[in-house]
Parts: sequence; structure tokens; C-alpha cells
Amino acid sequence: MKITRILAYRVELPLYETTYKWSGGKSVTVFDSTIVRVETDSGLIGYGEVCPLGPFYLPAYADGVRAGLKELGPHLIGQDPRQLGKLNRLMDAALKGHPYVKSGIDIACWDILGQAAGLPVCELLGGRYGEDFHLYRAISQESPEEMASRVAAYRAEGYRRFQLKVGGDPDVDIQRIHAVAAKLQPGDRLVADANTGWTQHEAVRVVRGVRDIDVYIEQPCLTYEECLSVRRNTDHPFVLDENIDGLDVLLRAKADLAMDVVNLKISKLGGLTKIRQARDLCVSMGIAMTLEDSWGGDIATAAIAHLAHSTPTEFLFTSTDFNSYVTVSTADGAPQRVQGRMAASKKPGLGVTPKMDVLGKPVLLVE
Ligand SMILES: [Mg+2]
Repeated sequence: MKITRILAYRVELPLYETTYKWSGGKSVTVFDSTIVRVETDSGLIGYGEVCPLGPFYLPAYADGVRAGLKELGPHLIGQDPRQLGKLNRLMDAALKGHPYVKSGIDIACWDILGQAAGLPVCELLGGRYGEDFHLYRAISQESPEEMASRVAAYRAEGYRRFQLKVGGDPDVDIQRIHAVAAKLQPGDRLVADANTGWTQHEAVRVVRGVRDIDVYIEQPCLTYEECLSVRRNTDHPFVLDENIDGLDVLLRAKADLAMDVVNLKISKLGGLTKIRQARDLCVSMGIAMTLEDSWGGDIATAAIAHLAHSTPTEFLFTSTDFNSYVTVSTADGAPQRVQGRMAASKKPGLGVTPKMDVLGKPVLLVE
């Protein structure tokens, strides 16, 4: 089987909540997502999606996805999409770095492999664990009262895990965490994600200010070393995210006992092939995970679901249903949240059928 054409579509994804705000005054109102279509000489077609959280979250931006595909695409024509190890080595040889550019192609090729094998991607990634899995709800940064009322409302919809966007004024963040914690019940899980927003001394103040609350602290500071210092000053369960973008730093963090949970995102690692390697390593090392992506719609959510559902349940801390945050549906067959939980499709591949009228005309064609 050979890749014959690669196409890309640009889709805008507005938010039901209209704006998503996190640390440092950063926000997004409409997501700019790229859907990648890989065609083959067998007639099988695969889809992937890459949607950065704006240009200021990770070293990734929406136009960069398209520019990178234009650069990388010609190297992939004629390659077998099912040989994902070889394909990833070829992508890494042809374009240094830029893992998020490669992610959409890699996801689309897993979709093709699954269709060719007649198996859902989650079964190819290791097997399906349980009927479904836990989701968290991200709570956009607002006043403590507003965040508490949003948590109560999402709790009523079935979510039991909440990730607060903090990383603002540390005194207000302490109030945010207390206000939200008052809405929770036994069995719920609360994460305060500062998204690198605190300086080291601010982070140490916050963890002292919420000492009596059952809350996980996620990525308090910009650098790994600052986070490690905070980690050593608190007994809260600790999550690293932005700093963990590959195996080197993942192994270093394990050796330093720098985290209890790690947040791995498909495009941050460079696709399903690479995140599977990191995921399996975490399982072997006893590190639980939040498995997700930076953002996306139906196709990214489908890829997340296959990854999450193929992860041993005790090591899957949470995952994300991004397609329920946005107002535009780009594909049929995508997983849907039920009572704060989600399951991967049982159809071959990703199990999604893109809505071509929503995708519109391709913005890039490589053949
Ligand atoms: Mg995070």
C-alpha cells in the first residue's frame, strides 16, 4: 500500500463557553484546527487532526501545521502508511523537530492501518480496557465564584474530575481552589493547573495556602527545575505537563521523582506512535497519565479516545472530550461523552467519517 495524496483542511471551532482563559491572561475564542487526509492506492483513506491551543501555549501554531505539511508531505508520497515505525523515522529525518506537524499524518496512518486490519485503533494500541473511561472538565479561569458554579454545573452533567485553570494572582488562585473544593463530593478529583503561570515563590505560597485541600498541583512554573523545587516543598499529588515533551525529560522526571501523574498530549509528543511509546513506558514506571491533546474537534477526540481506552485503567488518571467544548462537529462516529465518561469506537480505524461539507475545500494538496 502506498500513500498517493495528502490533503489538509482548515476548520474553525468556536466554543460553547465563547472563551477559554488560562494563565497569564491567555485566551482563545475560536480554535483554528487542521484536518489531515491521507489517501492511498488501495482506496483506503485516513484522517488526523492537529489543533494547537493558540500560538502561545506549546511551541506550535495553526499556520505552522499547514506550512510543515507542505514541507513534509512530498517525502511521504509512495510510502506505506501501515509501517508506522518506518514512517516516523522518515518524518524525523525529513523535518527536524516540529512534532505537532507530524502528529496529524501519524494519526491518519493509524486510521488507515486499523481499516486495513479490520480493527479499531485502540485494539492495535494494546487492547481495550473496560467499558469506558473517566473524563475531566477544564474550568476556564474566572472569578472564584464563577469557577465554583461552573464546577457544580458540570458535576451535574456527570463529570467527577475537574481541572481548574489557575496560574493567575496567587491570592485569587488560593480562593479559586477553596471555592471549588467546597462544591465537591468524596470520589471527585480536583486539579489546579497553573500552566506555568506562577513564579517559584508564588507557587510555594499557593501550595501552602491550600494545604488542607485534596488537590493535585499541575505544572506550576515555567521550567522543569522550578517545578521540581515546588514539588519538593509540597505533599500534594503533582502533575507535570508542558515540560514533558519527550522520552529524555520523562525519564529524568521519573529519576528525580518529580511527578505522580504526567499529562501527555498526542501532538506534543508527535503522534500516536510516539505517545504510545511514552504511555507504555509510564505504565512500566508506575506513573499515571492524563492522555489528551492540546485541543481539537471530533477527529482529535476520536484519536484521544483510542489512546485512552487502550491504557490500563489504573494508570489512566483522566482524558478529555474536546468535541463537547466546541460548537462545530467535523465527523460522524466520533465518541460522545456520557455521564462524564467516554469510549472509543468499535469500528475499524478511528471509526470516524468526516463531514466533507464542514471541511470545505482543501487548503493544501500534496501528490
Ligand atoms: Mg496541563
